[in-house]
Amino acid sequence: MTTAAAIAGRAPERAPRRISVLGATGSIGRNTLDLIGRAPEEYQVVALTANTDARGLAELALRHKAELAVVADPDAYDELKTCLSGTSVETASGPEALVEAAGRPAEWTMASIMGAAGLRPTFAAVRQGACIALANKECLVTAGQVFIDAVTQSGATLLPVDSEHSAAFQAIDQPACDAVERITLTASGGPFRTWSVEQMAAARPEDALKHPNWSMGQKLTVDSATLMNKGLELIEAFHLFPVEAGQLDVVVHPQSIIHCLVEYSDGSVLAQMSMPDMRTPIAYSLAYPDRMWAPTERINLADLKELTFEPPDEKRFPALRIAREALDAGARATVVLNAANEIAVRSFLQGKIGFLSISELVEATLERDAGHEQGDPHNLDEILVLDKIGRELAGALLPRFILK
Ligand code: NDP
Repeated sequence: MTTAAAIAGRAPERAPRRISVLGATGSIGRNTLDLIGRAPEEYQVVALTANTDARGLAELALRHKAELAVVADPDAYDELKTCLSGTSVETASGPEALVEAAGRPAEWTMASIMGAAGLRPTFAAVRQGACIALANKECLVTAGQVFIDAVTQSGATLLPVDSEHSAAFQAIDQPACDAVERITLTASGGPFRTWSVEQMAAARPEDALKHPNWSMGQKLTVDSATLMNKGLELIEAFHLFPVEAGQLDVVVHPQSIIHCLVEYSDGSVLAQMSMPDMRTPIAYSLAYPDRMWAPTERINLADLKELTFEPPDEKRFPALRIAREALDAGARATVVLNAANEIAVRSFLQGKIGFLSISELVEATLERDAGHEQGDPHNLDEILVLDKIGRELAGALLPRFILK
């Protein structure tokens, strides 16, 4: 048995490497470009993409001498064109241009578009058969085996960037991966780890956006507060590593120093540690199979004094249970789970629903979809149709949860 991560395991091409960053203006995209900008002679930036942030994208494209800059939102195109007029950077806009940009030959692509919107571009990057640094969780949560099959067929190298999965990948002893008994993902517990249900019922978006350890985009920060993020990560891990769902665990570790623990049949546990800074897993994926220097704070255990652990409280944080149930139910349920969660988090951030209603809306959507005659999706088109159905179902149920 092998892990799906790093399926092809090919060594990176030598400098200058042609690289693209999908979702360049986001938290992962900017951290990636921070690393690349420290050794510009080693990289040739091919394509950078964003959704609406034309100005931010144009600045990045100029700073990193990109060949192409693409905004997904056509309404942002005029601003992009204006910002880059008179320069050598090509510009384009719209969903098809995003897919075309992702398909431009590159040796390494960071897939860090937020949400299911990242599916088509990431699949296009995979089809090149190059190295894919996968931050976008939704590819594995919604497309799971279909995505892994696409990676296998193209001969691409898949490297997980999510800190827990990068940690598991580093701790999995490939020749002995049949001997893995358990993979435990750590969770910080988010900003509401010690809050009561009553307090969480009154939580506002600004409370949920105060993550104690990590700096991330808004959607993911809210997912960390509900623990849905950890549920999505369980699904990701199920597709990446040679374990059954029952061999995946979560432990709350508020310091976010240990990112994952891999337990073997002889009782050994291998863990990966680093300070909570995404530039460490990004650097790992950029240099793989070598290592590169990253400008991150180093661990000083004596200063940290203690690392603590506690079980997740699935009563206060039902999202973890809901995600597990979706994983057990199959591929259809995980697509609907993700779609409903995207709608629910957006509604919470817009002040339309309360914090606890995020999980309630997701669960109600899954219940409404259960028993649907059509089974699991088998290809990207079916996944995208189902994603739309999940969003429509969640949208239809939303009025039930609107704040008075
Ligand atoms: P951000 O919200 O910070 O950035 C998202 C990026 O995607 C931006 O460039 C944004 O463009 C672009 N984008 C958003 N919507 C669309 C769309 N509809 N079409 C095209 N592009 C779009 O997210 P993060 O960087 O935090 O996360 C990105 C992905 O990485 C997510 O899947 C997340 O779960 C995953 N991840 C993130 C981690 C983190 O620490 N941040 C850790 C592990 C995984 P614009 O700026 O114009 O809106």
